[in-house]
Amino acid sequence: MYGGGAFLVGLVLIFIIPPIGIFLAILSALAVLAAIVGVSILGKEKTRQIFCPYCSSKNDVYVSRTNLDCDICRRPVLIDQNGEAVMAQALDLTPQHNKKAGE
Ligand SMILES: [Zn+2]
Repeated sequence: MYGGGAFLVGLVLIFIIPPIGIFLAILSALAVLAAIVGVSILGKEKTRQIFCPYCSSKNDVYVSRTNLDCDICRRPVLIDQNGEAVMAQALDLTPQHNKKAGE
């Protein structure tokens, strides 16, 4: 974490160049606090980017999820053990208008 490293540097600088050290320590402490608050607002769980196997749209998904419905095309997507997105159902290549005509 960058803020944490800068905070330590700031603490050291307090003893060498007090004005700069205090300034840096306060700034980096604020950065660390902002990061902590940001994480708690967004939720503890990380998300990752999954690309829909049907429409290639990007979905932000919690890492623990093993399935989802695509944000864009609403089709079901499974996430396998390797973190790869796979189709949860066979892709229906039949055009919708052809289906209706056949009924
Ligand atoms: Zn999709």
